[in-house]
Amino acid sequence: MTSDITTLLGDDGILVATMDSAGRPMNILNEAMAGPLAEIVDRLEADPAIKGLILTSAKKDFLAGADVDRLWAIGSAQEAFDESMQLKAFIRRLELCGKPVVAAIHGMCLGGGLEIAMGCHWRIVVDDGKAQLGLPEVKLGLLPGGGGTVRMPRLVGMQQALQWMAEGTEVRAAQALASGLVNQLAASKDEALQQARAWCLANPRPKQPWDLPKFRYPGGDSRTPAAAQLFAVAPSMASAKSFGNYPAVTHIMSSVFEGGVVGFDAALAIESRYFAACAISPESRNLIGTLWYQLAAIKKGQSRPAGFATTKVGKLGILGAGMMGAGIAYAAAKAGIEVVLLDSTQAAALRGLAYSQGLLDKAVKKGRSTPEKREALLALITPTTDYAKLAGCDLLIEAVFEDRAVKAEVTQQAEAVISADAVFASNTSTLPISGLARASSRPANFIGLHFFSPVDKMPLVEIIVGAQTSDETLARSFDFVLQIGKTPIVVNDSRGFYTSRVFATYVMEGLAMLKEGVHPRAIEQAGLQAGMPMPPLALQDEVSLSLGLHVADQTRKDLAAEGQSYVEHPGESVLRQMCALGRIGKKAGLGFYDYREGDKTLWPGLAEHYPLAASQAEQAELMDRLMFAQANEAARCLEEGVLRSVADANIGSIFGWGFAPFQGGALQFINAMGLPRFIQRSEQLAAAFGDRFKPAEIVRVKAAQATNFSD
Ligand code: NAD
Repeated sequence: MTSDITTLLGDDGILVATMDSAGRPMNILNEAMAGPLAEIVDRLEADPAIKGLILTSAKKDFLAGADVDRLWAIGSAQEAFDESMQLKAFIRRLELCGKPVVAAIHGMCLGGGLEIAMGCHWRIVVDDGKAQLGLPEVKLGLLPGGGGTVRMPRLVGMQQALQWMAEGTEVRAAQALASGLVNQLAASKDEALQQARAWCLANPRPKQPWDLPKFRYPGGDSRTPAAAQLFAVAPSMASAKSFGNYPAVTHIMSSVFEGGVVGFDAALAIESRYFAACAISPESRNLIGTLWYQLAAIKKGQSRPAGFATTKVGKLGILGAGMMGAGIAYAAAKAGIEVVLLDSTQAAALRGLAYSQGLLDKAVKKGRSTPEKREALLALITPTTDYAKLAGCDLLIEAVFEDRAVKAEVTQQAEAVISADAVFASNTSTLPISGLARASSRPANFIGLHFFSPVDKMPLVEIIVGAQTSDETLARSFDFVLQIGKTPIVVNDSRGFYTSRVFATYVMEGLAMLKEGVHPRAIEQAGLQAGMPMPPLALQDEVSLSLGLHVADQTRKDLAAEGQSYVEHPGESVLRQMCALGRIGKKAGLGFYDYREGDKTLWPGLAEHYPLAASQAEQAELMDRLMFAQANEAARCLEEGVLRSVADANIGSIFGWGFAPFQGGALQFINAMGLPRFIQRSEQLAAAFGDRFKPAEIVRVKAAQATNFSD
């Protein structure tokens, strides 16, 4: 096996070990890295000519974290425990070797990287705006198993460490220094190496603070009143947010607390037990399977047609500078793309530009950008009413009113100006793409790019392939989505596409429950308990009831025109009734909630219009209904060919509308439960609440074949 570390011993006896994972853009902590690291510790311990060690990296980052392939391959709790103990054994030897060890850090220093760095006696960070330090394991349902939960609280205090580890926060250089996570900043990598060498020479026999007899935790250990107070509230605060759906958070807290009442080495062993519990948990398997592997497959282009060279958009035209157009303009300019932002009046176009200005002003105020960068970005956006300015655009995105006639008109006006090979994309949220393409003189270049609001925050773009869209148009659109740093999923044209269609089943199920007389608070609680970011009634208020009704009416009309039957969802009459009462959602301050002074409370009138049923369902049943409705609809989308892959289904559901991430996405929900159990429960729900719960045929087929939803 090749070594991923090169070493150079200086005349002064300081050994510089440079990490450089072979054939990878980033260093990761795998066997090729851990083996040589352990050998270096051997040399450090055995060779008197070596006076100290500096750890650095040849890549643009220090070390990005553990090898997820290795974690994924773990088959048992014992294996997980042993792996974790093995890793931390060499870190412990490093800090007890009696010679100075310094981490010279630049770029990302995450997970196992930071755990190694915390096992060094001195940490220097290059403060060039690129440093990111943190323990993000929780995002994959894990806890830091390389001593992170033991060392971090001893460096920065329990409260700060808990917060950072429970949220997987990445800390910048200045904050790392102020908190005590690192010891020194440097202006450049060279300076960091010089400082590291000087520190080694000046501190020939260092010890870690926790190995000194007088060591005290900053802010006190688990036995102090401050900790008693912290641990009296922290677990309940965490479960108020996570509803116990993220066991890693609880395990992190337990490890920190229990590790604070025992000696250092016992604390390391306790941590490994909790690591093992996390590593084999279904939550962690779901999160890693989807948010690591499936996401990576998507970003590598599994849904992009092969055979087309990668393209970049140099000039983008946007039609409509409203909420979405303005957001897309910002996202594109941020990626360095020249943008022409067109609206029907100059005032409207300027309002679109002002949106970027507002976001940038905020970023400058918070120190996340500079006035120069703000001006440079704004200079990329040209607000206009003049179609001639669209000449030379590689891509056009239409984001005018959701109206077929208006969209057709702007499509034709724009196509008169742009080159014949430019791609034309519509950001429609509901109108089928193949229908909109009828207004185009080049339907092969016509595609859907469905962004989510607010565009600057939402990571997903749903690419919709129309009946005549060419593979090349799809490939170029896919490249553009990656170019602006978003995640693309690719779906075939259909009513509501994928995301809006499945998302609607969640919200509508909540409305159906209200109609049946379920207590609205129980409905809302069920959504949150199931792991959705927002409960159904509140969510319907956000997207507006009038829009929901408009979509339902339009669908009914379109289906009638196509000679197809329309099956009314039981929640639809609630939309109709609420709109008739003038309660059209948050924008009006009146919906399922009353909105006053930034606060909202459930509308008391719901009790009168939707009287409570005599017997109330159990929360578990409500949760099942909300989740099964979505999972089943996602399965139907795959069955009907709306979805093209399982990865797109899972990632689209989590990134698009926040489907409970710990479940691993809408189709992984079915896998994790087991297909036979899903079918059985779906049949029960169908018998009690209607055919919409009947399990999709594809689930039955896969169950019969004893397979599941995997790519
Ligand atoms: P919006 O009302 O905020 O903006 C529409 C803009 O288009 C307005 O500035 C309007 O002046 C401009 N416009 C209208 N007719 C025009 C014309 N003939 N020529 C040039 N400009 C014209 O709407 P929005 O929320 O930004 O939505 C735009 C599109 O994006 C719609 O198709 C909508 O369905 C879709 N969409 C919206 C959301 C969302 O959450 N709002 C999400 C995804 C997709």
